[in-house]
Amino acid sequence: MSFDDAFATHAHELVDWIATYLRDVEQYPVRAQTAPGDIARAVDGPPPEEPEPLDEIVADVRDKLLPGITHWQHPAFLAWFANTATTPGILAEMFAAALNANGMVWASSPAASELEHVTMRWLGELLGLGTGWFGQITDTASTSTLLALAAARESDASLDIRERGLAGRADLPAFRIYTSEFAHTVVDKAAMTLGIGLANIVRVPVDSEYRMRPGELARLIAADRASGCRPMAVVGVSGTTSVASIDPLPAIADICAQEKVWMHVDAAYAGSAAIAPEFRWVLEGAERADSVSVNPHKWLVTPIGCSALWVRDVAALRRAFTVVPEFLKTSARDVTDFHDVGFQLGRPFRALKLWMVLRAYGARGLAQIIRAHCALAQRFAEWVRAEPDWEVAAPVHLSLVCFRYAPAGLAPEQADAANTAILESVNRSGRAFLSHTKLGGRIVLRLAVGNARTEERHVRAAWEALREAAPRKM
Ligand code: PLP
Repeated sequence: MSFDDAFATHAHELVDWIATYLRDVEQYPVRAQTAPGDIARAVDGPPPEEPEPLDEIVADVRDKLLPGITHWQHPAFLAWFANTATTPGILAEMFAAALNANGMVWASSPAASELEHVTMRWLGELLGLGTGWFGQITDTASTSTLLALAAARESDASLDIRERGLAGRADLPAFRIYTSEFAHTVVDKAAMTLGIGLANIVRVPVDSEYRMRPGELARLIAADRASGCRPMAVVGVSGTTSVASIDPLPAIADICAQEKVWMHVDAAYAGSAAIAPEFRWVLEGAERADSVSVNPHKWLVTPIGCSALWVRDVAALRRAFTVVPEFLKTSARDVTDFHDVGFQLGRPFRALKLWMVLRAYGARGLAQIIRAHCALAQRFAEWVRAEPDWEVAAPVHLSLVCFRYAPAGLAPEQADAANTAILESVNRSGRAFLSHTKLGGRIVLRLAVGNARTEERHVRAAWEALREAAPRKM
Protein backbone atom coordinates (compact mmCIF):
# COMPACT_ATOMS: atom_id res chain seq x y z
CA MET A 1 0.00 0.00 0.00
CA SER A 2 1.40 3.43 -0.90
CA PHE A 3 1.50 6.22 1.63
CA ASP A 4 -1.22 7.99 -0.30
CA ASP A 5 -3.55 5.00 -0.09
CA ALA A 6 -3.05 4.85 3.66
CA PHE A 7 -3.29 8.61 4.14
CA ALA A 8 -6.98 8.87 4.89
CA THR A 9 -6.76 6.12 7.53
CA HIS A 10 -3.78 7.74 9.23
CA ALA A 11 -5.29 11.20 8.97
CA HIS A 12 -8.58 10.11 10.54
CA GLU A 13 -6.69 8.47 13.38
CA LEU A 14 -4.58 11.56 13.84
CA VAL A 15 -7.58 13.87 13.88
CA ASP A 16 -9.15 11.67 16.56
CA TRP A 17 -5.91 11.81 18.50
CA ILE A 18 -5.75 15.61 18.19
CA ALA A 19 -9.35 16.02 19.35
CA THR A 20 -8.66 13.78 22.38
CA TYR A 21 -5.38 15.58 23.08
CA LEU A 22 -7.02 18.98 23.10
CA ARG A 23 -9.89 17.71 25.26
CA ASP A 24 -7.61 15.98 27.77
CA VAL A 25 -4.56 18.21 27.62
CA GLU A 26 -4.86 18.94 31.34
CA GLN A 27 -3.79 15.36 32.06
CA TYR A 28 -0.26 16.16 30.97
CA PRO A 29 2.34 17.89 33.13
CA VAL A 30 2.58 21.40 31.68
CA ARG A 31 6.35 21.52 31.45
CA ALA A 32 8.17 18.55 29.93
CA GLN A 33 9.55 16.42 32.71
CA THR A 34 12.51 15.12 30.70
CA ALA A 35 16.19 15.84 31.33
CA PRO A 36 18.50 17.21 28.62
CA GLY A 37 19.40 14.41 26.18
CA ASP A 38 16.54 12.06 27.14
CA ILE A 39 14.59 12.58 23.93
CA ALA A 40 17.63 12.50 21.65
CA ARG A 41 18.64 9.17 23.20
CA ALA A 42 15.14 7.79 22.69
CA VAL A 43 15.05 8.57 18.96
CA ASP A 44 18.71 8.51 17.92
CA GLY A 45 20.39 5.73 16.00
CA PRO A 46 21.67 5.24 12.47
CA PRO A 47 19.83 7.29 9.80
CA PRO A 48 16.96 5.32 8.26
CA GLU A 49 18.07 3.31 5.25
CA GLU A 50 14.94 1.25 4.65
CA PRO A 51 11.34 2.53 4.65
CA GLU A 52 9.49 2.02 7.92
CA PRO A 53 5.77 1.55 8.45
CA LEU A 54 3.97 4.81 9.21
CA ASP A 55 2.19 3.16 12.14
CA GLU A 56 5.49 2.72 13.91
CA ILE A 57 6.65 6.24 13.17
CA VAL A 58 3.39 7.71 14.45
CA ALA A 59 3.63 5.54 17.57
CA ASP A 60 7.10 6.94 18.19
CA VAL A 61 5.75 10.48 18.06
CA ARG A 62 3.32 9.59 20.82
CA ASP A 63 5.59 7.40 22.90
CA LYS A 64 9.04 8.92 22.45
CA LEU A 65 8.51 12.58 21.58
CA LEU A 66 5.41 13.50 23.53
CA PRO A 67 7.17 13.20 26.92
CA GLY A 68 9.53 15.94 25.73
CA ILE A 69 6.76 18.35 24.78
CA THR A 70 5.98 21.31 27.00
CA HIS A 71 2.25 21.73 26.57
CA TRP A 72 1.59 25.24 25.30
CA GLN A 73 -2.01 24.14 24.74
CA HIS A 74 -2.40 23.44 28.48
CA PRO A 75 -4.62 25.93 30.33
CA ALA A 76 -2.10 26.08 33.18
CA PHE A 77 0.62 27.25 30.78
CA LEU A 78 1.21 30.72 32.26
CA ALA A 79 4.83 31.33 31.26
CA TRP A 80 6.37 33.94 28.89
CA PHE A 81 3.40 35.03 26.78
CA ALA A 82 1.06 32.06 26.74
CA ASN A 83 -0.90 31.42 23.56
CA THR A 84 -3.21 28.95 21.87
CA ALA A 85 -3.45 27.17 18.57
CA THR A 86 -7.24 27.09 18.34
CA THR A 87 -9.01 24.56 16.17
CA PRO A 88 -9.83 26.94 13.27
CA GLY A 89 -6.10 27.65 13.10
CA ILE A 90 -5.24 23.96 13.29
CA LEU A 91 -7.64 23.25 10.43
CA ALA A 92 -5.97 26.03 8.43
CA GLU A 93 -2.57 24.45 9.07
CA MET A 94 -3.90 21.14 7.75
CA PHE A 95 -5.16 22.86 4.60
CA ALA A 96 -1.88 24.74 4.18
CA ALA A 97 0.18 21.57 4.60
CA ALA A 98 -1.95 19.72 2.06
CA LEU A 99 -1.90 22.55 -0.49
CA ASN A 100 1.78 23.25 0.13
CA ALA A 101 1.32 26.59 -1.63
CA ASN A 102 4.48 28.67 -1.70
CA GLY A 103 3.52 32.32 -1.97
CA MET A 104 6.89 33.65 -3.09
CA VAL A 105 5.40 35.48 -6.10
CA TRP A 106 1.78 36.24 -6.91
CA ALA A 107 1.72 33.67 -9.70
CA SER A 108 3.09 30.94 -7.45
CA SER A 109 -0.23 31.07 -5.61
CA PRO A 110 -2.49 34.06 -6.25
CA ALA A 111 -4.81 33.09 -3.40
CA ALA A 112 -1.95 33.18 -0.89
CA SER A 113 -0.89 36.64 -2.00
CA GLU A 114 -4.36 38.14 -2.25
CA LEU A 115 -5.64 36.63 0.98
CA GLU A 116 -2.65 38.12 2.78
CA HIS A 117 -3.66 41.60 1.61
CA VAL A 118 -7.27 41.14 2.66
CA THR A 119 -6.43 39.61 6.05
CA MET A 120 -3.88 42.28 6.90
CA ARG A 121 -6.33 45.02 5.98
CA TRP A 122 -8.97 43.40 8.19
CA LEU A 123 -6.62 43.06 11.13
CA GLY A 124 -5.34 46.62 10.77
CA GLU A 125 -8.89 47.93 10.82
CA LEU A 126 -9.90 45.73 13.74
CA LEU A 127 -6.96 47.00 15.78
CA GLY A 128 -7.76 50.63 14.94
CA LEU A 129 -4.61 51.23 12.93
CA GLY A 130 -6.52 52.92 10.12
CA THR A 131 -5.75 52.60 6.44
CA GLY A 132 -2.88 53.38 4.09
CA TRP A 133 -0.57 50.59 5.24
CA PHE A 134 1.22 47.86 3.40
CA GLY A 135 0.73 44.71 5.46
CA GLN A 136 2.45 41.37 5.39
CA ILE A 137 2.63 38.28 7.58
CA THR A 138 5.97 36.97 8.77
CA ASP A 139 6.89 34.06 10.99
CA THR A 140 7.81 36.01 14.14
CA ALA A 141 8.20 39.47 15.63
CA SER A 142 11.93 38.87 15.27
CA THR A 143 11.53 38.89 11.51
CA SER A 144 8.97 41.70 11.55
CA THR A 145 11.32 43.93 13.55
CA LEU A 146 14.23 43.11 11.27
CA LEU A 147 12.20 43.97 8.16
CA ALA A 148 10.88 47.20 9.71
CA LEU A 149 14.34 48.36 10.73
CA ALA A 150 15.77 47.36 7.34
CA ALA A 151 13.17 49.64 5.77
CA ALA A 152 14.10 52.38 8.25
CA ARG A 153 17.73 52.02 7.22
CA GLU A 154 16.69 52.44 3.58
CA SER A 155 14.27 55.29 4.20
CA ASP A 156 16.68 57.85 2.75
CA ALA A 157 17.33 56.51 -0.74
CA SER A 158 20.04 59.09 -1.40
CA LEU A 159 22.37 57.25 1.00
CA ASP A 160 22.37 54.33 -1.44
CA ILE A 161 22.84 51.76 1.32
CA ARG A 162 21.23 49.09 -0.80
CA GLU A 163 24.08 49.30 -3.30
CA ARG A 164 27.02 50.47 -1.28
CA GLY A 165 26.23 49.04 2.17
CA LEU A 166 27.45 50.62 5.39
CA ALA A 167 30.89 49.11 5.84
CA GLY A 168 33.92 51.19 5.02
CA ARG A 169 31.98 54.35 4.22
CA ALA A 170 33.60 57.50 5.53
CA ASP A 171 30.65 59.52 4.23
CA LEU A 172 28.18 57.98 6.69
CA PRO A 173 27.85 58.76 10.39
CA ALA A 174 26.89 56.13 12.99
CA PHE A 175 23.19 55.17 12.67
CA ARG A 176 21.37 55.13 15.99
CA ILE A 177 18.31 53.22 17.19
CA TYR A 178 16.46 54.41 20.33
CA THR A 179 14.44 52.06 22.45
CA SER A 180 13.65 51.56 26.10
CA GLU A 181 15.69 49.45 28.45
CA PHE A 182 12.68 47.13 28.49
CA ALA A 183 12.54 46.50 24.73
CA HIS A 184 12.87 42.92 23.54
CA THR A 185 16.18 41.62 22.21
CA VAL A 186 14.59 41.47 18.75
CA VAL A 187 15.82 45.06 18.44
CA ASP A 188 19.35 44.01 19.39
CA LYS A 189 19.29 41.18 16.87
CA ALA A 190 18.04 43.45 14.10
CA ALA A 191 20.77 46.00 14.90
CA MET A 192 23.39 43.25 14.79
CA THR A 193 22.07 41.80 11.54
CA LEU A 194 21.68 45.15 9.77
CA GLY A 195 25.23 46.30 10.50
CA ILE A 196 24.09 48.99 12.92
CA GLY A 197 25.79 47.37 15.90
CA LEU A 198 24.71 46.94 19.50
CA ALA A 199 26.74 49.97 20.57
CA ASN A 200 24.41 52.11 18.47
CA ILE A 201 21.29 51.12 20.34
CA VAL A 202 20.53 53.97 22.68
CA ARG A 203 18.67 52.81 25.80
CA VAL A 204 16.11 55.40 26.77
CA PRO A 205 15.40 55.43 30.52
CA VAL A 206 11.92 54.51 31.74
CA ASP A 207 9.59 56.02 34.32
CA SER A 208 8.40 54.35 37.52
CA GLU A 209 5.96 52.24 35.47
CA TYR A 210 8.64 51.00 33.05
CA ARG A 211 7.53 53.24 30.14
CA MET A 212 9.95 55.09 27.89
CA ARG A 213 10.42 58.71 29.02
CA PRO A 214 9.79 60.89 25.95
CA GLY A 215 11.72 63.82 27.41
CA GLU A 216 14.78 61.58 27.68
CA LEU A 217 14.23 60.36 24.13
CA ALA A 218 14.21 63.92 22.80
CA ARG A 219 17.30 64.76 24.83
CA LEU A 220 19.23 61.70 23.60
CA ILE A 221 18.34 62.37 19.96
CA ALA A 222 19.46 65.99 20.29
CA ALA A 223 22.73 64.91 21.91
CA ASP A 224 23.37 62.42 19.10
CA ARG A 225 22.67 65.00 16.43
CA ALA A 226 25.06 67.39 18.15
CA SER A 227 27.80 64.75 18.08
CA GLY A 228 27.22 63.91 14.40
CA CYS A 229 25.30 60.63 14.73
CA ARG A 230 22.29 59.88 12.55
CA PRO A 231 19.09 58.96 14.41
CA MET A 232 17.70 56.09 12.31
CA ALA A 233 14.70 54.75 14.22
CA VAL A 234 12.83 54.76 17.50
CA VAL A 235 11.25 51.51 18.63
CA GLY A 236 8.34 52.09 20.99
CA VAL A 237 6.95 49.04 22.72
CA SER A 238 3.32 48.31 23.49
CA GLY A 239 3.55 45.49 26.01
CA THR A 240 7.14 45.04 27.09
CA THR A 241 8.10 41.42 27.60
CA SER A 242 9.10 41.70 31.23
CA VAL A 243 6.20 43.77 32.56
CA ALA A 244 3.80 44.56 29.67
CA SER A 245 4.35 48.29 30.09
CA ILE A 246 3.06 50.48 27.27
CA ASP A 247 5.39 53.19 26.00
CA PRO A 248 3.77 56.63 25.43
CA LEU A 249 3.33 56.16 21.70
CA PRO A 250 1.61 59.52 20.99
CA ALA A 251 4.50 61.45 22.55
CA ILE A 252 7.04 59.26 20.75
CA ALA A 253 5.16 59.86 17.48
CA ASP A 254 5.39 63.63 18.05
CA ILE A 255 9.15 63.43 18.54
CA CYS A 256 9.65 61.15 15.53
CA ALA A 257 7.58 63.47 13.33
CA GLN A 258 9.51 66.50 14.48
CA GLU A 259 12.88 64.80 14.12
CA LYS A 260 11.95 62.95 10.92
CA VAL A 261 13.02 59.65 12.43
CA TRP A 262 11.39 56.31 11.57
CA MET A 263 9.04 55.10 14.30
CA HIS A 264 8.50 51.39 14.74
CA VAL A 265 6.01 50.02 17.27
CA ASP A 266 6.70 46.56 18.66
CA ALA A 267 3.27 45.51 19.87
CA ALA A 268 3.99 41.79 19.58
CA TYR A 269 2.00 40.95 22.70
CA ALA A 270 -0.21 43.88 23.67
CA GLY A 271 -1.28 44.94 20.19
CA SER A 272 -3.83 42.13 20.03
CA ALA A 273 -5.71 43.66 22.96
CA ALA A 274 -6.75 46.56 20.71
CA ILE A 275 -9.34 44.27 19.16
CA ALA A 276 -11.43 45.02 22.27
CA PRO A 277 -12.59 48.64 22.05
CA GLU A 278 -11.83 49.32 25.73
CA PHE A 279 -8.20 48.29 25.15
CA ARG A 280 -7.69 50.21 21.95
CA TRP A 281 -5.54 52.66 23.89
CA VAL A 282 -2.67 50.16 23.78
CA LEU A 283 -2.10 51.17 20.15
CA GLU A 284 -2.97 54.84 20.50
CA GLY A 285 -0.30 56.71 18.55
CA ALA A 286 0.70 53.61 16.54
CA GLU A 287 -1.46 54.83 13.65
CA ARG A 288 1.13 57.59 13.23
CA ALA A 289 4.10 55.19 13.17
CA ASP A 290 6.09 54.16 10.11
CA SER A 291 5.79 50.49 10.97
CA VAL A 292 3.94 48.36 13.50
CA SER A 293 4.13 44.68 14.39
CA VAL A 294 1.61 42.58 16.30
CA ASN A 295 1.78 38.82 16.85
CA PRO A 296 -1.53 37.02 16.33
CA HIS A 297 0.37 33.90 17.42
CA LYS A 298 0.70 35.43 20.87
CA TRP A 299 -2.75 36.62 21.81
CA LEU A 300 -5.08 36.19 18.87
CA VAL A 301 -5.26 32.40 19.28
CA THR A 302 -3.52 31.67 15.98
CA PRO A 303 -0.96 28.84 15.69
CA ILE A 304 2.73 29.76 16.03
CA GLY A 305 4.30 31.35 12.98
CA CYS A 306 2.09 34.40 12.51
CA SER A 307 3.38 37.93 13.04
CA ALA A 308 1.65 40.88 11.37
CA LEU A 309 3.79 43.74 10.06
CA TRP A 310 2.46 47.00 8.64
CA VAL A 311 4.72 49.51 6.92
CA ARG A 312 3.71 52.90 5.52
CA ASP A 313 6.55 53.44 3.06
CA VAL A 314 6.53 50.27 1.03
CA ALA A 315 9.11 51.80 -1.32
CA ALA A 316 11.66 51.75 1.52
CA LEU A 317 10.85 48.11 2.20
CA ARG A 318 11.25 47.30 -1.47
CA ARG A 319 14.57 49.13 -1.64
CA ALA A 320 15.72 47.00 1.24
CA PHE A 321 14.75 43.69 -0.29
CA THR A 322 13.77 43.65 -3.95
CA VAL A 323 16.09 41.65 -6.18
CA VAL A 324 14.40 39.81 -9.04
CA PRO A 325 16.30 37.04 -10.80
CA GLU A 326 15.19 36.07 -14.29
CA PHE A 327 13.60 32.83 -13.12
CA LEU A 328 11.17 34.75 -10.88
CA LYS A 329 10.00 37.25 -13.47
CA THR A 330 6.35 36.84 -14.41
CA SER A 331 3.97 38.66 -16.72
CA ALA A 332 1.55 39.54 -13.88
CA ARG A 333 1.00 43.28 -13.40
CA ASP A 334 -0.40 45.22 -10.42
CA VAL A 335 0.21 42.35 -8.01
CA THR A 336 2.45 41.87 -4.99
CA ASP A 337 5.28 39.39 -5.23
CA PHE A 338 5.82 39.04 -1.52
CA HIS A 339 9.47 38.01 -1.80
CA ASP A 340 10.09 41.64 -2.86
CA VAL A 341 9.24 42.91 0.63
CA GLY A 342 11.27 40.54 2.80
CA PHE A 343 14.50 38.56 2.84
CA GLN A 344 12.84 35.17 2.40
CA LEU A 345 11.87 33.77 -0.95
CA GLY A 346 9.73 30.79 0.00
CA ARG A 347 6.64 31.70 2.03
CA PRO A 348 4.21 29.32 3.68
CA PHE A 349 0.51 30.16 3.34
CA ARG A 350 0.33 31.93 6.71
CA ALA A 351 -2.58 34.20 5.91
CA LEU A 352 -4.89 31.20 5.83
CA LYS A 353 -4.71 30.51 9.56
CA LEU A 354 -5.20 34.14 10.51
CA TRP A 355 -8.09 34.50 8.06
CA MET A 356 -9.80 31.38 9.41
CA VAL A 357 -9.29 32.45 13.04
CA LEU A 358 -10.58 35.99 12.39
CA ARG A 359 -13.68 34.65 10.67
CA ALA A 360 -14.35 31.83 13.11
CA TYR A 361 -14.16 34.02 16.22
CA GLY A 362 -14.99 37.42 14.79
CA ALA A 363 -13.69 40.51 16.52
CA ARG A 364 -16.34 39.99 19.18
CA GLY A 365 -15.16 36.48 20.07
CA LEU A 366 -11.52 37.51 20.16
CA ALA A 367 -12.29 40.56 22.30
CA GLN A 368 -14.09 38.30 24.78
CA ILE A 369 -10.99 36.13 25.14
CA ILE A 370 -8.77 39.18 25.72
CA ARG A 371 -11.22 40.59 28.27
CA ALA A 372 -11.47 37.32 30.16
CA HIS A 373 -7.68 37.02 30.33
CA CYS A 374 -7.27 40.56 31.64
CA ALA A 375 -9.95 39.95 34.26
CA LEU A 376 -8.20 36.75 35.39
CA ALA A 377 -4.91 38.61 35.73
CA GLN A 378 -6.62 41.25 37.90
CA ARG A 379 -8.13 38.53 40.09
CA PHE A 380 -4.77 36.85 40.54
CA ALA A 381 -3.20 40.20 41.42
CA GLU A 382 -5.89 40.72 44.08
CA TRP A 383 -5.09 37.34 45.64
CA VAL A 384 -1.40 38.19 45.70
CA ARG A 385 -2.03 41.62 47.25
CA ALA A 386 -4.24 40.09 49.93
CA GLU A 387 -1.63 37.50 50.92
CA PRO A 388 0.94 38.37 53.59
CA ASP A 389 4.55 37.97 52.41
CA TRP A 390 3.67 38.29 48.72
CA GLU A 391 3.54 41.41 46.58
CA VAL A 392 2.61 42.54 43.10
CA ALA A 393 5.78 43.98 41.59
CA ALA A 394 4.49 46.06 38.66
CA PRO A 395 1.23 47.64 37.49
CA VAL A 396 -1.14 45.11 35.91
CA HIS A 397 -2.51 46.67 32.73
CA LEU A 398 -3.36 43.58 30.71
CA SER A 399 -3.01 39.83 31.27
CA LEU A 400 0.46 39.69 32.83
CA VAL A 401 1.14 39.83 36.56
CA CYS A 402 4.66 40.36 37.92
CA PHE A 403 4.81 39.38 41.56
CA ARG A 404 7.09 37.91 44.18
CA TYR A 405 7.42 36.29 47.52
CA ALA A 406 8.84 39.10 49.66
CA PRO A 407 8.54 38.54 53.40
CA ALA A 408 9.85 41.34 55.57
CA GLY A 409 13.32 40.71 56.88
CA LEU A 410 14.49 38.61 53.94
CA ALA A 411 17.67 40.02 52.33
CA PRO A 412 17.28 40.69 48.56
CA GLU A 413 19.57 37.78 47.64
CA GLN A 414 17.62 35.46 49.90
CA ALA A 415 14.35 36.65 48.37
CA ASP A 416 15.76 36.00 44.89
CA ALA A 417 16.80 32.50 45.89
CA ALA A 418 13.40 31.83 47.46
CA ASN A 419 11.51 33.00 44.35
CA THR A 420 13.75 30.96 42.06
CA ALA A 421 13.15 27.89 44.23
CA ILE A 422 9.37 28.47 44.30
CA LEU A 423 9.28 28.80 40.52
CA GLU A 424 11.32 25.67 39.94
CA SER A 425 9.24 23.70 42.41
CA VAL A 426 5.94 24.66 40.73
CA ASN A 427 7.28 24.09 37.23
CA ARG A 428 8.78 20.74 38.21
CA SER A 429 5.46 19.64 39.66
CA GLY A 430 3.83 19.93 36.23
CA ARG A 431 0.74 21.56 37.79
CA ALA A 432 1.43 24.96 36.27
CA PHE A 433 4.19 26.61 34.30
CA LEU A 434 5.33 30.18 34.97
CA SER A 435 8.42 32.18 34.10
CA HIS A 436 10.44 34.99 35.66
CA THR A 437 12.21 38.22 34.91
CA LYS A 438 14.28 40.80 36.77
CA LEU A 439 13.02 44.20 37.89
CA GLY A 440 15.40 46.59 39.55
CA GLY A 441 17.96 43.80 39.57
CA ARG A 442 15.68 41.48 41.57
CA ILE A 443 13.93 38.28 40.53
CA VAL A 444 10.18 38.55 40.02
CA LEU A 445 7.78 35.86 38.87
CA ARG A 446 5.55 36.31 35.83
CA LEU A 447 2.09 34.85 35.43
CA ALA A 448 0.84 35.47 31.89
CA VAL A 449 -2.72 34.48 31.04
CA GLY A 450 -2.93 33.92 27.30
CA ASN A 451 -4.33 30.47 26.68
CA ALA A 452 -7.92 30.37 25.47
CA ARG A 453 -8.65 27.38 27.76
CA THR A 454 -7.45 29.08 30.94
CA GLU A 455 -10.19 29.50 33.52
CA GLU A 456 -10.20 30.85 37.04
CA ARG A 457 -9.68 27.35 38.46
CA HIS A 458 -6.36 27.04 36.63
CA VAL A 459 -5.08 30.37 37.91
CA ARG A 460 -6.34 29.48 41.39
CA ALA A 461 -4.52 26.12 41.24
CA ALA A 462 -1.32 27.85 40.14
CA TRP A 463 -1.63 30.25 43.06
CA GLU A 464 -2.11 27.38 45.49
CA ALA A 465 0.93 25.61 44.06
CA LEU A 466 2.99 28.79 44.46
CA ARG A 467 1.93 29.30 48.07
CA GLU A 468 2.60 25.67 48.92
CA ALA A 469 6.07 26.00 47.42
CA ALA A 470 6.94 29.06 49.52
CA PRO A 471 9.18 28.39 52.53
CA ARG A 472 7.24 27.56 55.72
CA LYS A 473 7.51 30.11 58.51
CA MET A 474 9.01 28.81 61.76
N1 PLP B 1 8.67 41.68 21.04
C1 PLP B 1 8.06 41.52 22.21
C2 PLP B 1 7.55 42.72 22.95
C3 PLP B 1 7.90 40.24 22.74
O1 PLP B 1 7.31 40.08 23.93
C4 PLP B 1 8.39 39.13 22.03
C5 PLP B 1 8.26 37.78 22.57
O2 PLP B 1 7.78 37.53 23.63
C6 PLP B 1 9.02 39.36 20.81
C7 PLP B 1 9.13 40.64 20.35
C8 PLP B 1 9.58 38.22 20.01
O3 PLP B 1 8.55 37.52 19.41
P1 PLP B 1 8.83 36.35 18.36
O4 PLP B 1 9.04 35.12 19.16
O5 PLP B 1 7.59 36.30 17.52
O6 PLP B 1 10.03 36.72 17.56
